[in-house]
Amino acid sequence: MIDFTSFQKLSYGLYLICSEHNGTKSGYAGNTGFQVTSSPQTIAISCNKDNFTCGIIEKSRKFSLSVLQLELDVSIIGDFGFKSTRDIDKFEKYSYKTGKLGIPVITDSCTAIFECKVINQVDCGTHILFIGEIEVAEKINDQPPLTYDYYHSHYKMLAPKNAPTYVDPEKLSGGRTYSTTPETTNSDYVCIICGYTYDPEVGEPSQGIPPGTPFEELPEDFECPVCKAAKEYFREA
Ligand code: FE
Repeated sequence: MIDFTSFQKLSYGLYLICSEHNGTKSGYAGNTGFQVTSSPQTIAISCNKDNFTCGIIEKSRKFSLSVLQLELDVSIIGDFGFKSTRDIDKFEKYSYKTGKLGIPVITDSCTAIFECKVINQVDCGTHILFIGEIEVAEKINDQPPLTYDYYHSHYKMLAPKNAPTYVDPEKLSGGRTYSTTPETTNSDYVCIICGYTYDPEVGEPSQGIPPGTPFEELPEDFECPVCKAAKEYFREA
């Protein structure tokens, strides 16, 4: 028996993982980053083979890992976690530096950064586990790191489909399906792309939407603040 809600008790942080090969910069948001050994100092990441960045790391043999800070504008997670480098330039919007290894290292909204050379990799089916030896480790600020639990509970977001921790939302809700009937006026609405929840009691201050605004009264050009999906991608929770 597999109780999918048990997986939510596993604890993680949230990271931006980047690399570059032949001038092509790439990056994604992921929760699977952890120190493997202290001598030598190594970090492992689990990267979905469908991620554009996975192919870049396989070629460049190096990656950077930036630790997201607790309080941030969630659009950085939306851009890195729910959009592909194939479609948008993630490095245009957010501050980064070119690290010692010659790869991009995001510093925007991050509390620490690491640069690693890949010393080993394990094929895990859908994912590749890259083990990197740390060449650079640097603290950026004194902010606490973002935890995966806080990401779920505070920002009310789900894991992207490519995450090793992705669980079909229906498996978590016992087969609940989202209704499309627009009758109720005070319900939460969920973005089916990224899992962000619009709560009418809270509104969406980042888009000038005051508390107490029902979903139906949102302007037609309202976008998911996380993944920028249009209103039509929302379903009643
Ligand atoms: Fe979204």
